[in-house]
Amino acid sequence: MNILEYTLEGLTRYFELEHNKGNFHARALFREVFKKGNPDFFSAPEFRASPRLSAALAGRIKTDPGKVVRVFEEENLTKFITRLSDGLEIESVIIPMTRYQTLCVSSQVGCRMGCRFCETGQMGFRRSLLVSEITGQLYNGRHTLGKNIKNVVFMGMGEPFDNFDAVMKAVLVMNEQKGFDVALSHITISTAGLVPGINRLARMNLPNLRLAVSVNAADDKIRSGIMPVNRTYPLKALKKALKDFPLSGRGTFLLEYILIRGVNDSLGHAQKLSEFIGSLPVRLNLIPFNPVSGFEAHPSCDEDMHRFAAYLGERGIFVIKRWSKGRSVSAGCGQLGKTMDQD
Ligand code: SF4
Repeated sequence: MNILEYTLEGLTRYFELEHNKGNFHARALFREVFKKGNPDFFSAPEFRASPRLSAALAGRIKTDPGKVVRVFEEENLTKFITRLSDGLEIESVIIPMTRYQTLCVSSQVGCRMGCRFCETGQMGFRRSLLVSEITGQLYNGRHTLGKNIKNVVFMGMGEPFDNFDAVMKAVLVMNEQKGFDVALSHITISTAGLVPGINRLARMNLPNLRLAVSVNAADDKIRSGIMPVNRTYPLKALKKALKDFPLSGRGTFLLEYILIRGVNDSLGHAQKLSEFIGSLPVRLNLIPFNPVSGFEAHPSCDEDMHRFAAYLGERGIFVIKRWSKGRSVSAGCGQLGKTMDQD
């Protein structure tokens, strides 16, 4: 069994049922593995004092976050590639913030959503990640690469709601106070708009967990053209799911909008977006399109981007203009998967 898929409660239960031990040893193991990054937890005093338990656990329990095989740096931004036990590889990105770092994790190898502007979408789908393969990215980011990661965003390879159970379990493991201790309010799940996943999350009663939706067009024809998921769950269904979602007190949705020149960046498109948002509490991230293979398109020019942002800002919408980081190492939004293709 891989420790990285356990919450403290789950590990305590395992120790109780299988080894007649409990919370004392589970907490010691969590301190060593999750807090200190020491995979050899047998060296901890609690386990040295319990040689029979250590002997019973040896060979049955392991810390396996996957092997980091390549690391790319651009200024403070870091992209790393992890090789999984079956030889497949995933990408994660560490983004510097003012006081700490944000880790962008993958939830699948490839993706079946097929968004046109996304390199991962062009790769197709290989498989979903296990819980430990998701949490292993945080382990490697913190302990193998030594980064001070306090934020996690599910914006890497894959559609998180297409791997719902593993992603939600990984969120609980990341949130475990005696372990990684990432606050739910510092974890963001980003979806392309899989409505059943939004509805399922709504029923889970995790009000502080943050939800982001990749919108990219507020017109069904345009959106279906660049995001096939819209053919199954069009904007009306997406809006209803967001309206029904139980946000915490002052919570907001994060909407992401990639600006593609001549496709979705006119004032008419901004007006449709403003109508779609209506009274929804949102923060809107505007991101210039990053070039990807297989999709002939260009980023909007600065002037169009400012005009688009100003139109929405004047209508009371909180807009963040994000200048894409990490283009040279293919770590920009929608570019994950490109490095592996080049090898
Ligand atoms: Fe999948 Fe997200 Fe890329 Fe769409 S944008 S293809 S959901 S990884």
